[in-house]
Amino acid sequence: MELQDVTRVCKVCGKEMDLENFHKTAWGYTHVCKECVKKNRKKNKDSKALMEECERKIEEARQETLKDIPSRDLMAELHRRGFDGQLSYTYTEERKIDISKIR
Ligand SMILES: [Zn+2]
Repeated sequence: MELQDVTRVCKVCGKEMDLENFHKTAWGYTHVCKECVKKNRKKNKDSKALMEECERKIEEARQETLKDIPSRDLMAELHRRGFDGQLSYTYTEERKIDISKIR
């Protein structure tokens, strides 16, 4: 067996190691060592957790009550919370009109 068949240089850390430090697949050994694969897996897991945390915070902000916000500020408030689009609302005002004075 030639030297190049027993060692391999990891594409991530650049270290030359014995093939036993690389995962074996149906197509041969991987080009990234086991240690780097493990590190990368952890990194992906961490960023997934961070992403979920962000999504949870955004959802919380969306759930915040809107009842105390004046209608003229509502669009700006919704935009701040990440909503986009058009808002329409109906405003009803009750007024008593004395029809006897009309004419
Ligand atoms: Zn490596």
